[in-house]
Amino acid sequence: MSINLNDQQLRYRRTKIIATVGPATSSEEKISQLILAGANVFRLNMSHGTHDMHRLMSQRIRTVAAQHQSHIAILADLCGPKIRVGQFQAGFIQLETADLITVTTRPVMGEDKLIPSQYAQLHQELRPQHRIFLDDGLLELCVESIQGQDLLCRVIQGGKLSNGKGMNLPDSYITAPPLTQKDKDDVCFALSIGIDMLALSFVSCAQDIVQLKELLAEHGENVPIIAKVERLEALKNSEEIAQEADAIMIARGDLGVELDIEQVPVVQKELISLAKKYAKPVIVATQMLESMTQHPRPTRAEVADVSQSVSSGVDAIMLSAETASGKHPISAVQMMNRIARQAESHAWLHGAFSILERRIDNQSANNPVSAAVARSTAALSRELSVHAIIVISNTGVTTTTMSSARPAAPIVAISPHMKTCCRTNLCWGVIPFFEQNTEQQDPLQLARRIAIELKLAKKGDYIIIVQGFNKKKDLSTPSITTIVV
Ligand code: PEP
Repeated sequence: MSINLNDQQLRYRRTKIIATVGPATSSEEKISQLILAGANVFRLNMSHGTHDMHRLMSQRIRTVAAQHQSHIAILADLCGPKIRVGQFQAGFIQLETADLITVTTRPVMGEDKLIPSQYAQLHQELRPQHRIFLDDGLLELCVESIQGQDLLCRVIQGGKLSNGKGMNLPDSYITAPPLTQKDKDDVCFALSIGIDMLALSFVSCAQDIVQLKELLAEHGENVPIIAKVERLEALKNSEEIAQEADAIMIARGDLGVELDIEQVPVVQKELISLAKKYAKPVIVATQMLESMTQHPRPTRAEVADVSQSVSSGVDAIMLSAETASGKHPISAVQMMNRIARQAESHAWLHGAFSILERRIDNQSANNPVSAAVARSTAALSRELSVHAIIVISNTGVTTTTMSSARPAAPIVAISPHMKTCCRTNLCWGVIPFFEQNTEQQDPLQLARRIAIELKLAKKGDYIIIVQGFNKKKDLSTPSITTIVV
């Protein structure tokens, strides 16, 4: 089997890399190294850090991205109704397996055998026999009885529990609102620093996304929303969530605690199919190269996981602790880039990505005509061995629709709006290109010039120009033009 990584058609990696920034990657130098290693999107995790810290990070990202002439997107990840333990006098406690301990909603400092919870309704919404998982499921409690605001719990799996660790309650129906006051403050802040997209944690149903859209509308904004699927409730409502959200994140960290962990890979497959059906970008997240938080090389199983995700045609793969606080953040992105390129080369060799081709079904697509045009363009790109698909896009709709069909050639997304360039950088196969006054230029000349400038095509190669998609069906006038450079 010969895989030619230097094939001209594979110069641009199609699958995008999201890197979470944090203490390990806060300097301009590290941000620059992450970009050079292949990061396309930077995630600011609102569960950690202060607004001042996130503002500084976003300024640094913008500065460095401009130096690299790179349309890096900034994603602000909202905490949502994540339930956490409170603070401990010593910063942590040690839970011993089989001990009886108390979890309380009283406003107290935690101490040995006493865990405060930040969720005020906990004692009303849990029942005896319900399980409580702590610290991403590493520790487990089982409720034995409830007395006022105190829950008496047996420690099923003990260990060290530190301040503010997450609590997962897979057996309980939680009534916490989808957007907490902190989320609302974070949205206001995130918009003020000009982030490109928002992710909402612990989504339960489509209405949660509608609420966030309404909040954005109150600020006169319409930023793309990524629904993080990480609870059972969201899986039950996944069809409506996929329709309402702009993209889906398979948040395997919490998902692996809220569900039995062995269900995660099959749920991942189902969610990828669902995203395909509705032509929405999909991200696989969490523990992709987890061992690289400590070690310079990943495990074989991690490499297989990243490779398999890329082969299943997801838009983006995400690094969390690996880049935020790990010991080898740059090597983690470099490794992800290498694995993705190898998996893509394999998919290229076997039919120019035809195994990734998406059969967006017309009934599920927002705009069936656009979906059909994107599908036809993808087929044409294979039949004519096209070297680039040039999309001229104001809002990014044409770009995301075209990307969702998984064509053979890279999609150069030309836009006169910097925001559109950054937002579309999440999508599979898209190379964002900023160009002013696109409307005053001849599209064919523009396409030829940019294809040559990016060294995607040379004299005699075919390129395709796609234009005219619109979210509103009556305003949509999609067209495909094939030209020779
Ligand atoms: C996850 O749970 O997998 C996830 C991506 O969310 P967070 O990193 O905020 O826990």
